[in-house]
Amino acid sequence: MQTDLPSKRCLDCSYIIDGLPENRCPECGRVFDPDDRRSYRRGARQPRWVLWIGPPRLWSLVAAVVLMTLVLKARSQHACDDVMVMVGAWLIGLVAAADYLMRLLRVRCPRHGPPGGQTGSRGRWRWLVPPLCALLIPSAMLSYWPLRVRFALSRPTFDTVVQGIQDGSHSNLGRQTVGLYSIDFIQQDRGRIILSTGCNIVGPVGMVYAPNDSPLPDTIAIRLAPCWYAAQWH
Ligand SMILES: [Zn+2]
Repeated sequence: MQTDLPSKRCLDCSYIIDGLPENRCPECGRVFDPDDRRSYRRGARQPRWVLWIGPPRLWSLVAAVVLMTLVLKARSQHACDDVMVMVGAWLIGLVAAADYLMRLLRVRCPRHGPPGGQTGSRGRWRWLVPPLCALLIPSAMLSYWPLRVRFALSRPTFDTVVQGIQDGSHSNLGRQTVGLYSIDFIQQDRGRIILSTGCNIVGPVGMVYAPNDSPLPDTIAIRLAPCWYAAQWH
């Protein structure tokens, strides 16, 4: 043992690579040759500020997932449940995104044993969660896929309710759950059946069954299926 020399360290991550069973850094996987002085370095670890500060923390993952869930939910019904909650989620989500980017920039100078003692590849999956959320959020905001998916999953129940209203067997027009939607009330208007799902900042929103499949007046409507529209009144 060469105890008089400083430890050998991985060139990439500064992990101590003395006395390992194989010539591969267990921390980052970089291969080294104990006989080739250029394939490792000796000396003190790098200053803490250049060390890898670790994968994203749980709070930022929770923030990303909560924000994504709220956005998908809002986009699946044309409205968010609570504007203040949504604003708060966006603020925390942006802080989490900034934290993520700062960590990402520092990964190029990987850590060697950060405070907290996490080692190896533990927590590496956490790097995947924010990008996944960051992909889903804009895709949900730029298209109506959450609305289409949620409605498609709810469609059989919507059809049943509408059929029941038409033949008189479904008399409950008040608050109820239809498929995956919470309906505030049901009303009929010029032959159409409107299932209100709430309001957004522009006006009331809901699902509309139009038996003749005609466009709806006074609304911005998205056709979801034959005779079915998601509508926003203004
Ligand atoms: Zn390494």
